[in-house]
Amino acid sequence: MYIDAHNHLDLYGDKLHKTINIINKKKIKTLACSMDEKSYLLVKNLSKENSLIVPCFGIHPWNAHKNSNYLERFDTYIKETPIIGEIGLDFHWVLEDYKYPHQIKVLEYFFKKANEYNKITNLHTKGAEYEILKLIKQYNLRTPIIHWYSGPFDILKKLLDYGCYFTISVDIGYSKITEEMVKYIPIERILTETDGPTALKWINGKYGYPDYIINIVEKISTLKKITGEEAKEKIYNNFKLLFK
Ligand SMILES: [Zn+2]
Repeated sequence: MYIDAHNHLDLYGDKLHKTINIINKKKIKTLACSMDEKSYLLVKNLSKENSLIVPCFGIHPWNAHKNSNYLERFDTYIKETPIIGEIGLDFHWVLEDYKYPHQIKVLEYFFKKANEYNKITNLHTKGAEYEILKLIKQYNLRTPIIHWYSGPFDILKKLLDYGCYFTISVDIGYSKITEEMVKYIPIERILTETDGPTALKWINGKYGYPDYIINIVEKISTLKKITGEEAKEKIYNNFKLLFK
């Protein structure tokens, strides 16, 4: 089985049916992240009919300022979701300073709950890698999954020391930093992700379907000097271990 540990199924629109067929045909276990309440309810519904789809509830840092005053109402979702995400901080793409305190407030709320319910988190760290590391330690989080990391290498090392897992995304083969990361991170801590249809588009102009995960596994195997089948097996085992 393939692992897509960070996707956004709500972004496929009229191509959702085709996307789910691909997930079924290629057997891709999918962590279906949400950005807000609406996208969570959509993936939660999809998961009822499909055991390959795992719904994840989170408020994305881009939406934090719109939700920071209503956090208590999310408690039921946080309690029921198998994994919390996508949550995090983004000081890189979000340029308006006034939004940062909202991001921090939302993230601390989710981290507090993640600790309380012993949940795994799926984290966005863009431009805020140090702050995320600090908060992970402060809230004593259980093995977070760091999504599409592109920050400083010294923080990456500290996140690894903490026990974090890293999802390798669609820029493998296009990014020198990602290549260096894949070589550095032990295979036991590597997962794979496609991050919705627009991530690949951003990289090479093509619409991204979940079966792009096969290319990612193949490229990881080349960098790790193992066979594609071995890489697939190891990533699947990492995923299984993570939830034990
Ligand atoms: Zn995402």
